[in-house]
Amino acid sequence: MTQRIAVVTGGIGGLGTAICKALAADGRTVIAADLDGHPERVARFEHEVDGLDIRFAPLDVADFNACATFVEAIQREHGSLDILVNNAGITRDATLRKMAPEQWQLLLDVNLTSAFNLCRGAIDGMIERGFGRVVNISSVSGQTGNFGQTNYAAAKAGLHGFTMSLARETATKGITVNSVSPGYIETPMTRAMPDAVRERTQAQIPVGRLGQPGDIARAVAFLAAEDAGYITGANLPVNGGLFMDY
Ligand code: NAP
Repeated sequence: MTQRIAVVTGGIGGLGTAICKALAADGRTVIAADLDGHPERVARFEHEVDGLDIRFAPLDVADFNACATFVEAIQREHGSLDILVNNAGITRDATLRKMAPEQWQLLLDVNLTSAFNLCRGAIDGMIERGFGRVVNISSVSGQTGNFGQTNYAAAKAGLHGFTMSLARETATKGITVNSVSPGYIETPMTRAMPDAVRERTQAQIPVGRLGQPGDIARAVAFLAAEDAGYITGANLPVNGGLFMDY
């Protein structure tokens, strides 16, 4: 099998770590790109993935020039960038009436513009090599909206519009572009929810539990597979039945 090089942004986070491990288990060389400001978290991550073909690389996905330089460096060092998982994300919750322009802009920069920043650098090489897998991590909030999350829901819904458009632009080139929309998954992001909100949310999930990071990683690995070439422009909800659509 051709050795594939995968980049997972937000790669040392809750879902990112699970996605890195799933891709490595499938034989990919994985680069976990994340902010540089957490030496203890990076050390913990490196310990957790010790022995796997996974390494950390610092990157701010909101910085267009940094993303261009990063993609060039990966391609120079590894020969290609074949699988790109745009997973980095933040929340900056507030009702619209209380939301500062900075809360809106930073969230859009990190959760949506980041996908443009990285795809813009990576897509030419994928086209030249005739192979690429892009997976954008969206959210059920982008499908249903969520109280206090106009910024987050707009970015996540926007990510899917981005996914469908780029899928059309690259469909004849061996490249697929899809999104995965997690429901509520047990990570530091959801552990920050107040207990009452968590309990209320859990009660609404038909499967009866929050998801595990591995549930999302499985979906990403599926879409990134060599033989997943006929699935493009799709959104794969992984939400325990919380939101069903057709
Ligand atoms: P997480 O544990 O907070 O991981 C996100 C990672 O992205 C963190 O390591 C974070 O670093 C990093 N990051 C933030 N800003 C960045 C930047 N500018 N450049 C590079 N990396 C940056 O969150 P998660 O739960 O794993 O979420 C991963 C993705 O899934 C996000 O896109 C999120 O919106 C989506 N999602 C999660 C859930 C859920 O239930 N957990 C549900 C739906 C969708 P810092 O810690 O320094 O911010």
